[in-house]
Amino acid sequence: MTYPTQPTASHFINGEYVEDTSGTPINVIYPATGEIIATVHAATPALIERAIESANAAQAAWAAMTGTERGRILRRAAKIMRKRNHALSVLETYDTGKPYQETSVADATSGADALEYFGGMAATLTGEHIQLGEDWVYTRREPLGLCVGIGAWNYPTQIACWKGAPALACGNTMIFKPSETTPLCALKVAEILHEAGLPPGVYNVVQGLGEVGAALVTDPRVDKVSLTGSVPTGRKVYAAAAECMKHVTMELGGKSPLIIFEDADIENAVSGAILGNFYSSGQVCSNGTRVFVHKAIKEAFLGRLAARLEGAVIGDPMQPKTSFGPMVSERQMNIVLGYIEKGQAEGARLVCGGARLDRAGFYLQPTVFADVSDDMTIAREEIFGPVMAVLDFEDEAEVMARANDTEFGLAAGVFTRDLARAHRVAAGFEAGTCFINSYNDAPVEAPFGGVKASGVGRENSKVAIEHYSQVKSVYVRMGDLEAPF
Ligand code: NAD
Repeated sequence: MTYPTQPTASHFINGEYVEDTSGTPINVIYPATGEIIATVHAATPALIERAIESANAAQAAWAAMTGTERGRILRRAAKIMRKRNHALSVLETYDTGKPYQETSVADATSGADALEYFGGMAATLTGEHIQLGEDWVYTRREPLGLCVGIGAWNYPTQIACWKGAPALACGNTMIFKPSETTPLCALKVAEILHEAGLPPGVYNVVQGLGEVGAALVTDPRVDKVSLTGSVPTGRKVYAAAAECMKHVTMELGGKSPLIIFEDADIENAVSGAILGNFYSSGQVCSNGTRVFVHKAIKEAFLGRLAARLEGAVIGDPMQPKTSFGPMVSERQMNIVLGYIEKGQAEGARLVCGGARLDRAGFYLQPTVFADVSDDMTIAREEIFGPVMAVLDFEDEAEVMARANDTEFGLAAGVFTRDLARAHRVAAGFEAGTCFINSYNDAPVEAPFGGVKASGVGRENSKVAIEHYSQVKSVYVRMGDLEAPF
């Protein structure tokens, strides 16, 4: 079988595809079959240098363009992405293994939303005027300079755009390093941006493992680092960035709570739990993997959940009917299998799933554990796979304390028909992104990000502008200046 995935070259630097086969080869594996579908090469030090030099050289002229001009290019890129949604979705499916049913509505489309939203906002970015008697201060909203984006493997197109769009709108340039597991999609983002008129050097893509990321993060010419990845990587990258006082955005992992009260609409709550645990085969950072269900409705909830899971169509991700695909890699599949074993060994009740599927590729069954207690490993650690832990509760104050008893704070959700309780619970969550009677919506208009170990800063929305620009204040004296001597 031939796959439509072999990229023109491994990197995109200074407006063109660049190859250097002396870099470490990185095989791209289609998770649905285990076959190698493409090979890219990690960036050599010389290529990293070339990317930094060209991004640096391009920055002043890009920032000197008006916001309207910059925005027009981003919006043009959004339009091209939408037009090519099918091809980009196919590529995303081959890169990640996520079903086309998902990628055709959640990846290039989400990337295009970010380009359109921040493209529209570029012209509105201004400083302010502060009158002080006859003197005054004005502020200039200025770009940070050269931003480095580092991606995780679960949403390669989306992450490349969520970081690139606000960075570019503010007049920064960017070097994006995709995850070594899913290196293909970001190249297409760079290609489309340039087709839309982006000047060379403004958005570059270099491939590589963590060491390429680390070389970018520690370079003194880089002004900001935005990472999407795990908490341990986040700690390393944040510490390295701190050496040079670089700005950071950290979009890290989670172990988010989803609380279902006894008055919840059970079908909606089951839908929320499915979306928050099994979409993208559970490989979503904000997933609500600790599902606290009120004792009074627990068995009813589990019954409906098991019945609804029967409806999952597991199989070839390219088939439009398939709603549940493989894990991204053999390694990730084995990590998740290890957690499933631990869940059983520590005494959780396996309600459904729990095994690898007997077919090619890295397929796991959607898995639900009940009778999970707070101290079990599967209730404490991020699994990043299709494993839901259902925990019981009886009292609101008790469940809130348990929901917040975690080092993470990415997301949280509540299902209830009681309006006052819904808002009280949302206010009480120690999490950056909360949902009431819903789960995992991530519109570009809303801030997205975590608190505690789950991250620093926010992506999307107006708030992202604060993380890709800085404010200079200029005091203007209108009269004579008095001095003590
Ligand atoms: P990871 O931490 O292993 O890798 C993330 C990226 O960091 C990769 O590109 C990797 O090459 C790079 N990297 C590794 N070491 C580095 C170093 N020392 N310096 C610079 N870069 C380095 O994460 P992953 O396994 O690719 O992705 C899964 C994780 O990402 C999960 O924990 C998930 O929760 C998290 N995630 C978070 C969000 C969010 O928005 N909060 C979104 C998606 C995924």
